[in-house]
Amino acid sequence: RGRSDSKTTADGHSNQKDGKGNVIVSVRIRPDVGAKDSKQELEWDVNAKRSLIAYKGREGGDYYYDNVFDTQDNNRRVYDAAAKRLVRRVMEGYHGTVFAYGMTGTGKTFSMQGTATNPGVIPLAITDIFSYIRETPQREFLLRVSYLEIYNEKINDLLAGPVQTGPNGQSGPQEEIKLREDSKRGVYATPLKEEIVQSPTQLLRVIARGDNARRVAGTQFNARSSRSHAVVQIVVESRERVVPGIGSLKESKRSAIAPGGVRVSTLSLIDLAGSEKAADSKERRTEGSHINKSLLTLGTVIARLSSEKDKSGSDKDKPSKEGKHLPYRDSKLTRLLQPALSGNSLVSILCTIQIGASGSVAAATSHTGETLNTLKFAARAKNNIVSHAKKADESLGAGADVGSRALLDRYRLEIQ
Ligand code: ADP
Ligand code: MG
Repeated sequence: RGRSDSKTTADGHSNQKDGKGNVIVSVRIRPDVGAKDSKQELEWDVNAKRSLIAYKGREGGDYYYDNVFDTQDNNRRVYDAAAKRLVRRVMEGYHGTVFAYGMTGTGKTFSMQGTATNPGVIPLAITDIFSYIRETPQREFLLRVSYLEIYNEKINDLLAGPVQTGPNGQSGPQEEIKLREDSKRGVYATPLKEEIVQSPTQLLRVIARGDNARRVAGTQFNARSSRSHAVVQIVVESRERVVPGIGSLKESKRSAIAPGGVRVSTLSLIDLAGSEKAADSKERRTEGSHINKSLLTLGTVIARLSSEKDKSGSDKDKPSKEGKHLPYRDSKLTRLLQPALSGNSLVSILCTIQIGASGSVAAATSHTGETLNTLKFAARAKNNIVSHAKKADESLGAGADVGSRALLDRYRLEIQ
């Protein structure tokens, strides 16, 4: 089984043919901060092209990814290789999803948020989003951000004031948030607060506010954050700017575009719960009750994507049919990620591992086993997820939202 997981083409780019670079799977190894525990140490090697981890343990095998980042790589390097292009394409009208997967303490939050001196994927993406807007004067943009958390299979709106949780995460004062689907927006949470943001600082401030709501909610913040999924979504709307002189259009091109057509795309940045809870031991599953249902289901969906692919024979372009054999609806996370996992989004998965640590959750559980689980999850994701993401088509109104035209008029983005 372990071997079939690692089966990719020799260059490790099995997805490239279907959509060049639409799915990027990376593994990041965080520095060993504890004393060495040789027994738990994973024997591994990274090849020169940094696309391979050769695992030499009992279930040995070669695992290919798009990137392997080692302990020397900072967040900037991770972002540049694993997310930069995706963020740019979101600005051009594609949906994009970046998620961090790995056991608690391996660097998911470090990679997504980073620190003041080593900013992570989220702040670096925000910088790029505004650079893109600045470099694209011929279009006007509207940015809306939301921030939700999935905790105990309940969605909390982190921008709607304090999040309340009882011992089992039962409803607080917030109205129950549900997932809905429509052809234009895909799957979305409602009611969910969306903030219109006009500068990087403002966007970062909104996200910090969400982090704070999460922090306030948890009496044991660490336990809570390791069990919940944090989802930042940035909705990018844009349309051609109708200002004479700036980026003026040839008459022929103008007539090809519906006047005022709005292009809508979404960037989702997700810091998943610790994957150690997703271990497929029955014992742990019951112990964690439904807390980890989302991660378990994510594992199942990603594993089953391959059988969907097999069923459709050699026709790799055929997307997995919604819901039929894939249990997207079994958890909030997979339902929310359904468009991304079923091929409607560019995807970058950053899997974090830690090697040879002690004195942490990593050492307390079966560390090598968990690390191997992460490597296998990453390999499966690399093998199985196929993206057919298409650019939102403003002239056909595929991703266009007529209602937001008025909104765009009201909130012309003023870059600060
Ligand atoms: P997770 O979110 O996966 O539970 P964190 O991102 O909180 O893990 O990381 C756990 C600790 O390890 C934090 O103190 C973090 O600063 C540190 N850390 C994680 N990855 C790195 C890294 N690549 N370089 C330096 N420190 C790291
Ligand atoms: Mg974390």
